[in-house]
Amino acid sequence: MKKHNFYAGPSILPEYTIENTAEAVRNFADMGLSIMEVSHRSKEFVAVMEEAQQLFKELLNIPEGYHVLFLGGGASTQFAMVPFNLMNKKAAYLNTGAWAKKAIKEAQGFGEVEVVASSEDKNFNYIPKNYTIPEDADYFHITTNNTIYGTEIKNDIDSPVPLVADMSSDILSRPVDISKYAIIYGGAQKNLAPAGVTFVIIREDILGKVNRHIPTMLNYKTHIEKESMFNTPPVLPVFAALQTLKWLKKNGGISEMQKKNEYKAKLLYEEIDRNPLFRSTVPDENDRSLMNICFVMKDGFEELEKPFLEFATSRGMIGIKGHRSVGGFRASTYNALPVESVQALIGTMREFAEKNA
Ligand SMILES: *Cc1c(COP(=O)(O)O)cnc(C)c1O
Repeated sequence: MKKHNFYAGPSILPEYTIENTAEAVRNFADMGLSIMEVSHRSKEFVAVMEEAQQLFKELLNIPEGYHVLFLGGGASTQFAMVPFNLMNKKAAYLNTGAWAKKAIKEAQGFGEVEVVASSEDKNFNYIPKNYTIPEDADYFHITTNNTIYGTEIKNDIDSPVPLVADMSSDILSRPVDISKYAIIYGGAQKNLAPAGVTFVIIREDILGKVNRHIPTMLNYKTHIEKESMFNTPPVLPVFAALQTLKWLKKNGGISEMQKKNEYKAKLLYEEIDRNPLFRSTVPDENDRSLMNICFVMKDGFEELEKPFLEFATSRGMIGIKGHRSVGGFRASTYNALPVESVQALIGTMREFAEKNA
């Protein structure tokens, strides 16, 4: 039976990425060696790193003055690296979920943190609006896509202070006006590559403004100067990331992805809104994520949650169980997820409703 992969992360990757990476594990760049056993200083791997950085810049239309880094440590290390490198006295954060809270907690170790707004009062089922960003903050931090709750900031906001964004789960899903951001970072395992590599897009001129000592590996300058080759980078995930970037380019680039993502999300949200058994957990349509679509059983049908999960699993739907803090279901519809998988899930929901509603 065909499997439809809705995991939130690590998550579905293009067939192209998996095939080419599997081949490189056996025979990398016709060297007769596996990519796992060659020097990261070899000209073959240096070319991979350079091309990945270049293509990332090209696809996202990254302007002059920015660098693309591929680091270890996951997005969670960025929660600390951002304040370590940017915060003198005060930083502003938007609290839109568990990942935002983790970022806030790390920043609190470096100075004053002003949480400008929070959606915690409603279990993070909306994006706060109408807040004021303090002009004396060293930066303002947002989480554009809240993977666990299925909310997303889908536009590039204006900030009077440098804007920092965790885009772990929506990078490369829509065009972004990079010039509005000072730093964009994320773990690659949602929409780009296997786990193990973290991307950072950084505008160089925001650095050098704090006085504290920054350990070498946690200093963005180290990685900018050495072009992500200060120490051994995550070689295999970087190779896989390059394959995904090539696949994106072959498939029309990011605006094509956006169209496809909008289409998939529209189909699924329409079914959730229409189906008598389910409801979306995010009431405001503007706040609904295009990447992680969360839904629960409607009131009165709660006891059908487990049976639906079992039914969907028997139909090949993988990874749709919702995060424990939201419950219900979560279908992640990242770039690599084909429209057919969304259609298959919709078919499953209809069939289940016909039998049970
Ligand atoms: C998954 C996720 C993270 C955590 O990433 P790691 O690479 O595991 O540290 C952080 N932020 C968001 C929005 C995520 O979805």
